[in-house]
Amino acid sequence: MDLEEFRTEVRAWVAEHAPDFKTRSGVRSPEDEHELKALLRWVADLYAAGYVGGDWPVEFGGAKDHDPMHDVVVREEIARARAPMPASGSDLAAHAIIGFGTDEQRHRYLPPIREGRELWCQLFSEPDAGSDLASLRTTAVRDGDSWVVNGQKVWTTNGHWSNLGYLLARTDPDAPQHKGISAFVVDMRLVGIQVRPLRELTGTSDFNEVFFDAVRLPADAIIGAPGQGWAIANASLAEERAGVGASVVQLQLAWEDLVTLAKAVTIGGRPAAELDDVRQELARFRTEVDAVTMLTRASMERWEAKREKVTDAPMSKLMFSEVNLRLAEYALSLLGGRGVLAEGDSGAFDEGRWQDAYLYARAYTIAGGSSEIMRNIIAERGLGLPREARA
Ligand SMILES: Cc1cc2nc3c(=O)[nH]c(=O)nc-3n(C[C@H](O)[C@H](O)[C@H](O)COP(=O)(O)OP(=O)(O)OC[C@H]3O[C@@H](n4cnc5c(N)ncnc54)[C@H](O)[C@@H]3O)c2cc1C
Repeated sequence: MDLEEFRTEVRAWVAEHAPDFKTRSGVRSPEDEHELKALLRWVADLYAAGYVGGDWPVEFGGAKDHDPMHDVVVREEIARARAPMPASGSDLAAHAIIGFGTDEQRHRYLPPIREGRELWCQLFSEPDAGSDLASLRTTAVRDGDSWVVNGQKVWTTNGHWSNLGYLLARTDPDAPQHKGISAFVVDMRLVGIQVRPLRELTGTSDFNEVFFDAVRLPADAIIGAPGQGWAIANASLAEERAGVGASVVQLQLAWEDLVTLAKAVTIGGRPAAELDDVRQELARFRTEVDAVTMLTRASMERWEAKREKVTDAPMSKLMFSEVNLRLAEYALSLLGGRGVLAEGDSGAFDEGRWQDAYLYARAYTIAGGSSEIMRNIIAERGLGLPREARA
């Protein structure tokens, strides 16, 4: 099927099946059991329709003639409908297990992801290991038939709702940093695991701190071989590329919402959209949104043709997250004093949506590699500039 026909089909399907709870800006956790159930049902429907998981082995429901551009279109259409994305923790874990797990692990863990019966979280980042993930200090020590895990993770999206975790832990403290890390499946209900939701500046709890105190994992909880964790993590993260088109759609929608806002609010008794400086800002943002769109499309074409440049993903990510943040800041400035009103406050514009988008927008400049890290990659690996001094 031609890509545009496929898009039309997916758009109609998403309109019919997307869950009806209110979604917020960004990658957010369900707010209650009702939203959790609706999210898992939605994920199951997406897999059953063949709209996600097409790249899985055919034996586990993947498509024989899978087209990676279909994954891009599906994520774009989910974003366009402002519906929630399938949980990325489950996605990452599935790709780790498909690429490196045993047959037993594939049969045990893949079907419940497809059927929306289990949810995974990603247990990578630590208080002192985020950008520099390879310095992680959580340990897993072999003791008879178990691995004993001690340490702390943080930023664990959906940790409070997940029954399984995809963990990176240090198994060989004497090996070079990247080589001493292994990947594990963690049953989040095991004795010694404590999950503490963090309340964020948005007022919601989307991620958590997770503490491990002498947690015993069975010997077969390891994914791949000891010391292979870094390679497994990188391979599974690389599979997330299809979602980049969704960011562009989000940005286009944000710009449309900004125009709606500029028409709705008044400055000095006139609709803001009639003022010259506001019109110029709207045009400037449109130009930037179009530039990100074109840059991202070009990089996706190279990705599909397996000719991607090292700067493609960092440039799209950097531009998207920075334009998105400035756009939300500008929206708040148009709201003036009302910009401080949040969801639930009387008089809040569009139920405080812009305030939430503004407070969340900072997260995009950090998650999945911060803006500074993206700039370093572009400068050092793309432009060949001298490397920064490293401690
Ligand atoms: C919304 C959201 C969801 C997330 N979900 C998860 C999840 O589910 N699971 C998970 O494991 N992690 C998750 N993360 C964590 C994410 O991967 C880290 O936040 C990210 O890697 C940055 O690490 P850090 O927060 O420790 O910041 P740090 O690495 O401590 O950085 C702090 C500051 O220093 C700057 N900096 C660091 N190193 C350099 C350098 N070499 N040069 C210049 N500047 C530098 C950074 O840009 C940043 O401004 C999530 C993060 C966010 C925001």
